[in-house]
Amino acid sequence: MRNEIRKDPILGDLSIVTSYIAKECIFCQKLKAIQVEDSLKVVELDLITHPQRVKGKKGSMLAHGWTEAIVEGIHDERFSSFSVERIQRILKLLVNRFSELRKRKGVEFIGAFKDSSTHPATIIFTLPILPKRVERELKAIEAQKISLGECPYCEKKCKFMENELMKVCIAHAPQSTIHLMAYTKKHIDSFCKLKDEDLFYMAEMIKNISLLIERAGFEFYLVFHEKPKSARDYHIWIEFISKRFIDPLSTCYGISFSLDEKGLKKVIHGTG
Ligand SMILES: [Zn+2]
Ligand SMILES: [Zn+2]
Repeated sequence: MRNEIRKDPILGDLSIVTSYIAKECIFCQKLKAIQVEDSLKVVELDLITHPQRVKGKKGSMLAHGWTEAIVEGIHDERFSSFSVERIQRILKLLVNRFSELRKRKGVEFIGAFKDSSTHPATIIFTLPILPKRVERELKAIEAQKISLGECPYCEKKCKFMENELMKVCIAHAPQSTIHLMAYTKKHIDSFCKLKDEDLFYMAEMIKNISLLIERAGFEFYLVFHEKPKSARDYHIWIEFISKRFIDPLSTCYGISFSLDEKGLKKVIHGTG
């Protein structure tokens, strides 16, 4: 069975369902040939495939979705041990992938995240639909822009950490033990508009925060928030959230990832 994007018939929330749980690291499986440290490689994943039907209440529509990953090193490496230059190279490749994926037909939303506890990699997923949580964010930003007279992210006074490019805030209403938001000080609507020098400072901030959270004894997700294709305006941001009963797709984008009926039966009955 192909994995599917499904839409809740009442709430409209998105869910990706699969019949398969990987038993070994998917990045090691993909990269059996690569042993070299410090190598970067983009691999396709089958989290979602193209093209497919998105099943909603009123039938289904043909949609396009892709997932891929930037595999950033070997299995046992810690992302936080990477040099700033190496993280800058990863960001440069991520930005290139964002620009390429944006050009594909039917693309509405591109998300990307890292999990600090697994094989160092950034997973990029491309969807034909705007996730509900992102839709809510866009509406809230527009409303706040009207009442504040400026972008609420530009206006934010963040005192936790800063460098030439970024300011970092502690979430006012955190969704996990550690929940930090890093914003560019300038109003930039897409990662694709960042220059090499910007990527260096972004890499430096990512490295510093990663080390900080790791020293506090937590694994975490790092989530990139990029402008949805049809959004009029956006302010890019990076979210750091410690792992504790959460997953990045649902907490940060409002998309759940779970087993379909067949996959669930396999887990419960131990067959298949
Ligand atoms: Zn691995
Ligand atoms: Zn802004």
